[in-house]
Amino acid sequence: MLEERRHYRACNLCEAICGLEITARGEEILRIEGDRQDPFSRGYICPKGVALQDLHNDPNRLRHPARRTPGGSWERISWEAAFDEVATRLRDIQARYGRNAVAIYQGNPAVHNFGTVLSFPSFARTLKTKNIYSASSVDQLPHMVAAHAMFGHGLLLPVPDVDRASFFLVMGANPVVSNGSLMTAPGMSRRLEALRRRGGRLVVVDPRRTETAALADQHLFIRPGTDAYLLLAMLHVLFAEGRVNLGRLAAFTDGVEILAAVVREFPPARIADLTGIAAQTIATLAREFAAAPAAVCYGRVGLSIQAFGTTAQWLVNALNIVTGNLDREGGAMFPKAALDPLERFTAGHLGAWKSRVRGLPEFAGELPVAALAEEILTPGEGQARALVTVAGNPVLSTPNGKRLDAALATLEFMAAVDIYINETTRHAHIILPPTGSLEHENYAAIFHHLAARNTVKYSPALFAPASDTRHDWQIFLELETRLASRTPFESLKAQFRRGVRLGLGVDGMLDLAFRFGPYGSGLFGDGLTLAKVKAAAHGLDLGPLQPALPGRLWTKDKRIALAPKLLTRDLTRVKKRLADADVSRAQSNEELLLIGRRQLRSNNSWMHNSERLTRGKARCTLLIHPEDARRQGIRAGDRVKVVSRVGELVAPVEISDEVMPGVVSLPHGWGHDRPGIQLDVARRHPGVSLNDVTDEQLVDEACGNAALSGVPVRLKRA
Ligand code: SF4
Repeated sequence: MLEERRHYRACNLCEAICGLEITARGEEILRIEGDRQDPFSRGYICPKGVALQDLHNDPNRLRHPARRTPGGSWERISWEAAFDEVATRLRDIQARYGRNAVAIYQGNPAVHNFGTVLSFPSFARTLKTKNIYSASSVDQLPHMVAAHAMFGHGLLLPVPDVDRASFFLVMGANPVVSNGSLMTAPGMSRRLEALRRRGGRLVVVDPRRTETAALADQHLFIRPGTDAYLLLAMLHVLFAEGRVNLGRLAAFTDGVEILAAVVREFPPARIADLTGIAAQTIATLAREFAAAPAAVCYGRVGLSIQAFGTTAQWLVNALNIVTGNLDREGGAMFPKAALDPLERFTAGHLGAWKSRVRGLPEFAGELPVAALAEEILTPGEGQARALVTVAGNPVLSTPNGKRLDAALATLEFMAAVDIYINETTRHAHIILPPTGSLEHENYAAIFHHLAARNTVKYSPALFAPASDTRHDWQIFLELETRLASRTPFESLKAQFRRGVRLGLGVDGMLDLAFRFGPYGSGLFGDGLTLAKVKAAAHGLDLGPLQPALPGRLWTKDKRIALAPKLLTRDLTRVKKRLADADVSRAQSNEELLLIGRRQLRSNNSWMHNSERLTRGKARCTLLIHPEDARRQGIRAGDRVKVVSRVGELVAPVEISDEVMPGVVSLPHGWGHDRPGIQLDVARRHPGVSLNDVTDEQLVDEACGNAALSGVPVRLKRA
C-alpha cells in the first residue's frame, strides 16, 4: 500500500494564489484543502481550488498533440510531426503574405503559468508580427494605459492595502467572488469583515448589488458606463471644498492645477441624472473618503470594460493621489515582489502602430482583440491568414464572438497551445497540449507583484509528467527554435539560446531572478535564493507593503503625472456624452443595458467541465429588475430573447432587484453548445455566451479596450 503524501502549492486558477494542501497516494489525489500555514491565504480556498483534481483527471484533457482531419475528427500525432507542421505552415504563410499574416492570441491562463510567462514573449518576437492580441484588451488594458501615463510603466499598478485601509471604495469590482483582481488577496470576505471590525467602512458602487455589496456599509447603484463621471464629480467636490491634500506626494507630483481645472466642469448636480446617484450622496462620499485616516479607491473590470474605462482608471488613481492615499499604509501601494516583472517586460507605448482595418492603437506591442475578426476577414495586405492561440478561448471571451467564430473558420492555418478542444480550438489544425498544472513547477510571478502583502511561494510538481509530454515552455522553445532558423547564423543563435534555456530550466531561471531580484544579493550573497524559497513549503512572508515612491516610479523625471495629456485629451469625448441628451431620456423604455457578472464556480470561459462546479441549478440566467420585467410582461422562469446590434441569444430569466432598473445581467464565459467541442460536462450545462451579443464596435477609444459592459439590448419573449 502506497503511503499518503502531503503536497503544498499555490493554486494557479485565479489571481488569489491560495495555498493548497493536496493529499495524494501514488497517482491519486485524495483531498485538496486550504493550506492553513500559508502566510498569505491562511487556509482559505474556494470551490475551484478543490476542482483542480477534476482538471487533472479530466478525460477530455488532451495529453498528446492532435491534428484535425479533413473529416473533422482528431488524430493523435507525434510531437515531432506537430512541431514540424506548425513551424512549416507558419513560415510558409509568412513567406507568401508577409509577417503580419500570422496572428497570435494569448488567453488569461497564460499569465498564471510561469513557464508561459518566461517563454511566450520570445516565441512571439520570433514571429515578428504586429498582429498580437490577448485577453488584456477585454479586461485590464485601461489600468495599464493609465499606469503607464501616470507612473511610467504599464505594470506599475497600485494595489489596495486592504488589510490596513479604513475606507474601502470598491467600484465595478466584486472581490468577494474574484478574491481580488489586480489585488491578489485570498480570503477576501475575511479581509472585508476584518476591515469592518476595526471600524472601517466599505462602500460599493455597482449596477448590481454584488456579493461584495451585500457585505458593504453602503451600496450605490450606478448606471453602467458612467463611473468616470462619478469620479470627476467626487474630485470636483474635493477641489471646490479645499479638501485636496497630497501630503508627501506633493513633492513629486505634477499636474494638480490641470486636474483642478478639468474637474471644475463636473459638479455633482450636473452628473447626478447621468449616473443615477444623487448629488448630495456624491458629495458626502467624496467628503467621507477624504476624511478617512486611510482610504483607497479600487476600480476593477466593470470600470475598465466601458467606453470611458481609461478615464475611469486614471481618475481612480487621481482620487487616491489627491487625498494623499497613494503609497501610504492603508491606501493604494506598490508591492515589492521577489521577482520584479517591471524589469522584464516593456514599460509600454501607446499607438506606435494601429490596427490595419479600424486603426485601433497598439499598447505595449498588442492590438485590441476587438479588431481580431476584422483583421482576419478583411482582404488586403497584412490580412491575418493564420492564428496561434495560447490558453485562450476568444470565441467566448471577446466581443461578437459569433463573428470571430466564423472568421476562424476561414483561416488557412490555426495552431493552439491548449489542453482542450473548446469553442475556439476546434478551429485549429494542430493542438499542442502542455502538461497539466500539477505536473510542473510554478511560480506566480505576476500575482506576487499585485499582492496585498509581500510573500513568496514556490509550487513544485506534484506528479511526474507522463512520458512523451511537453511543458508549455518546452513547446514555445521548440517552436521558436524552428521558426528562428531561417539562416545558418540564426539557426546557430537559436540553438545556443535553446541549449542555455534547456540547461537552466524553469528552476534555474527562477533562481537567477530571485538572486538578482529585490531580496537577492547576487550569485554568491546570502539573499533570497530558490533553495530558500523551496525550503519554505508553505511560503515565506516578506512583510506588509511599504511606501516605495518616488524611487519606484518609471517616469523619466521620477515624478507622477497627475494629469497627463494622453488622458486629459480624451475628456473631449467625456464632455460630449454629457452634453448629449440625458441617457435615461435618450434610452427608450424598451432598451436595457446589459452587464456581465462573475461567478465563484466559474473561471471565465473554463472550469465548466468539472461536475462538482457545474452541479446544482442552472447559473447562466438573465437578471432583470422587477419593474422592467413587469413593463415588458416577463415572468420568472420565462425564456427571453436578448437582441443587440450584432446578434441575439435566448436565456432563462431571473427577476431580482439585485440589478438596478434599466439593467440586465448575464454571466460571461458560457455557451458550450457549439458543434465540435470536446467538453462532455460543459456540453450538458451549456448556458449561452454573453459575447454573442456584445459588440466589437463598442470600444474605449482611448486604447481600444472592448466596452463589454452596458451594451444596449432589447428583450423579446422567446
Ligand atoms: S480563490 Fe482562486 S486561487 Fe484561491 S482556490 Fe479559488 S481559484 Fe484557486
